[in-house]
Amino acid sequence: MSSPQHVICVGAGPAGLTAARHLARQGVRVTVLERDPLHVGGISRTEQYKGFRFDVGGHRFFSKSKEIEALWQEILGDQLITRPRKSRIFYNRKLFNYPLSALDALTKLGFFESLHCGLSYMKARAFPIRNPRSFEDWVVNQFGRRLFNIFFKTYTEKVWGMKCREISADWAAQRIKGLSLGKAIQQALTPSWVRRDSSTPKTLIESFRYPRLGPGQMWEAAAAQVREAGGEVLMGMDVQRLGRDSDNGTWTVHATDPTGASQVFTGEHVISSVALRDLAESLDPPPPEPVLTAARSLRYRDFLTVALIVRDVDCFDDNWIYIHELGVKVGRIQNFKSWSPHLVPDPDLNCLGLEYFCFEGDGLWDTPDDALIRLADEELIQLGLVTAGHVIDGTVIRQPKAYPVYDENYEERIALFRDWLEKERPGLHPVGRNGMHKYNNQDHAMMTALLTAENILKGEPAWDVWAVNEDAEYHEAGDDRTLALEGERLVPRPLSDKGAG
Ligand SMILES: Cc1cc2nc3c(=O)[nH]c(=O)nc-3n(C[C@H](O)[C@H](O)[C@H](O)COP(=O)(O)OP(=O)(O)OC[C@H]3O[C@@H](n4cnc5c(N)ncnc54)[C@H](O)[C@@H]3O)c2cc1C
Repeated sequence: MSSPQHVICVGAGPAGLTAARHLARQGVRVTVLERDPLHVGGISRTEQYKGFRFDVGGHRFFSKSKEIEALWQEILGDQLITRPRKSRIFYNRKLFNYPLSALDALTKLGFFESLHCGLSYMKARAFPIRNPRSFEDWVVNQFGRRLFNIFFKTYTEKVWGMKCREISADWAAQRIKGLSLGKAIQQALTPSWVRRDSSTPKTLIESFRYPRLGPGQMWEAAAAQVREAGGEVLMGMDVQRLGRDSDNGTWTVHATDPTGASQVFTGEHVISSVALRDLAESLDPPPPEPVLTAARSLRYRDFLTVALIVRDVDCFDDNWIYIHELGVKVGRIQNFKSWSPHLVPDPDLNCLGLEYFCFEGDGLWDTPDDALIRLADEELIQLGLVTAGHVIDGTVIRQPKAYPVYDENYEERIALFRDWLEKERPGLHPVGRNGMHKYNNQDHAMMTALLTAENILKGEPAWDVWAVNEDAEYHEAGDDRTLALEGERLVPRPLSDKGAG
């Protein structure tokens, strides 16, 4: 089958740019339409404030897929540096190793608290909760209630805005896969050179790659390579409406440009990393009512970072710390200098990212920036991480739809939308994280985009893009790649009311 004449990629995040780069290098005409007037990279962009650079979150470049690792290398070359991973849990004004190590935890908790935790653990082993249904049940069985309260409850509830007893146990089993107190003790007593084997739990991975100037550098390079290969990357293009001519199969995409004027683009294929809910809303004519309702019911968790410029450059050297302390709203703190020293222009200063998990439109999200900066400054002082007067400036970045929510019926809703789309709107390809409503990392988002681009080039759906799992793991067998179907990452799924708790 001959190559399509024109492919439109909506969104210049990792997925959109990966697809566009692949297609442009195969000689296909591509146009990328990005809503953001300045930044490519989507959630993986790098923001800048007065010469300080920082991520939305913190973006490790780590993949089980050799193809994706090689692609990152090809895009960025020697600008991709290897960084040690260090992240700890902040609790009771002490920093505990993360992943938890038994000796470290027991030493820092002190004799009496450790005894209490030990007894609570023994009780959980002797009298486990039968048929653990919730996150709380599962973790209590694994670690004991006392350790659950200290190391799991506060943070998990902050991130997801749900009680641990309302979150389904399968998420815990997946996320804390392979870790238990017994395993942690075994880990603590085993020398590091023996420890690295394939059974090492995921959370124990100790280094990662990172672009010298932050993740946005990767996506700026990718955008430049799309342009070098003849493609277009148009910024400030907010796609509002998409329609397909059923006679000739051509797609028409309507976008508002930075002046507010309407621009129209046509192509045989549209690769969309627009959140599924928004994509459904922008289809013209709209999908039938049940399909539209299904897409409209998809939910998201939002996120904001308060980036503070501080004089206390050595308050901790981790890439990030999890805040398990009661009485503060902050969930996690990034230390951007530890991600890469090149993110900070002045060696006497640092930039800390205080992360708050919220819902768009709730009290926190709507708080004015200056009040959020004050709150973040006060919480840093309250935690004892900086002293008063050491925060000299700050800015706020809000990220809507940071996390797609997996609630009870989300899979059926997506399946309904997807079936309809494939039958009724061929040529429109959802890719990426919110594009497919999958809680995944860059590698997964990129893999869905690469396989979509290959399907377009082949002129047939050779790959089932929806089967790419979170590890983007597949086995090479000659030219053939088999997608691993198991091990998809799960996010908290609320229990149904019936029998919850
Ligand atoms: C806090 C946090 C930490 C993370 N940490 C890591 C990590 O350590 N490692 C890792 O690999 N991944 C990490 N991720 C995940 C990573 O950010 C995503 O997997 C990745 O950015 C998804 O790429 P994407 O292209 O699918 O979507 P996005 O990054 O969401 O990009 C979509 C793009 O589409 C644009 N767009 C949307 N709607 C429209 C429209 N109507 N018109 C035009 N443009 C539109 C958006 O502006 C955006 O630029 C993290 C995510 C979060 C929230």
